[in-house]
Amino acid sequence: MATRTTDQELVAEFSEDHGRRDEDEYGRERESKRRRRAGPEVIACFGYHPWFCHLLHLGSPDQEVNKEGHYASIFLPSEASTSYTSQKQLLSEILPDLPEPISVQPLIEQMRTHAVQAQKRGSLVMIGEVGLDRSFRVPFPGHKANHCGEHTEVEEHTNTPSVADAEAKIATSGEEEMVKKLNQPELISRSKNLTPFRPSMDHQIALLEMQMDLAVELGINVSLHSVKAQGPTLDFLRRFKKKHGAMFTDRVNVDVHSCGGWSVESWVDAEKHFPNLYLSPSIAISGRTPVTPYLIRAADPSRLLVESDTHLIQDTTKRVWAATVWIAKCRGWKIERTEEDLEEKDIGVVRRLESNWNRFMNL
Ligand SMILES: [Zn+2]
Repeated sequence: MATRTTDQELVAEFSEDHGRRDEDEYGRERESKRRRRAGPEVIACFGYHPWFCHLLHLGSPDQEVNKEGHYASIFLPSEASTSYTSQKQLLSEILPDLPEPISVQPLIEQMRTHAVQAQKRGSLVMIGEVGLDRSFRVPFPGHKANHCGEHTEVEEHTNTPSVADAEAKIATSGEEEMVKKLNQPELISRSKNLTPFRPSMDHQIALLEMQMDLAVELGINVSLHSVKAQGPTLDFLRRFKKKHGAMFTDRVNVDVHSCGGWSVESWVDAEKHFPNLYLSPSIAISGRTPVTPYLIRAADPSRLLVESDTHLIQDTTKRVWAATVWIAKCRGWKIERTEEDLEEKDIGVVRRLESNWNRFMNL
């Protein structure tokens, strides 16, 4: 799954080497469910995550973009806000450490090329992880995490950093957050290292819309990140459905991944309006929200998927299994643990999630 400029090509290459195919090596369709279960399989996801969206501008590549104006429009509150002056001051202090923003337009073109190439060779492909995040704050660009997770003072800089440098710094901050989630809070002191800047919803929505337009154009699914943003996400989806109609709801399935902070009422309402919406609880994120067990119970059983929501490959299997067991316990479903269990008439959590996944991916 790609999230930023530096990993799109890596995902494309990995998918080319290991992409899951709907067909076998002789071009025949995979026949049995048992066969579908076999082997390592990769589904390429291309997209720009909201954590990196402030580094991108919406204009054309040859358009001159004023760096300060770009970041001011995305970071600063309205002039009427009491924090406007102090935040404006802070922005001017960190501006030399922020990269020149780059145009999103060629990046969308590159996403289209990658996705179409994957489709042509029969690999499965999605758009993601894209979405909206109201809790993310941009880390101080002049601070660097050392190997202990402590942070040095502002570094001397001679050159303006590149977008890739800025992305790496944000990703490091995200990894620290993961460490915190793994109960080692002593390794970080996060708030010190974050600016008060949350990228504006307008900017996040504009980027999300461009990427989801591409999903509709190509008829491919979306992995949607929605953190502390259920209101804006639902408003966006309603407007998007009006814009694309059945081209969206019939051709593109959307997984609201980890479903961060959604209320039960909002989810149930969303299911009614969007037949193409799924949710995938994870232990890492959904497990920290007390409402999730209620969400799992209230959701239509056919809309549930499951995920690890971790970037640590060594953790994915156990986290997916832990979330599977959790879903089963919340729903009172049987857990299939052996091949024989999978043959039994009374279907449990594994076959339910499998059949949801097959429907989600149109397999
Ligand atoms: Zn996410």
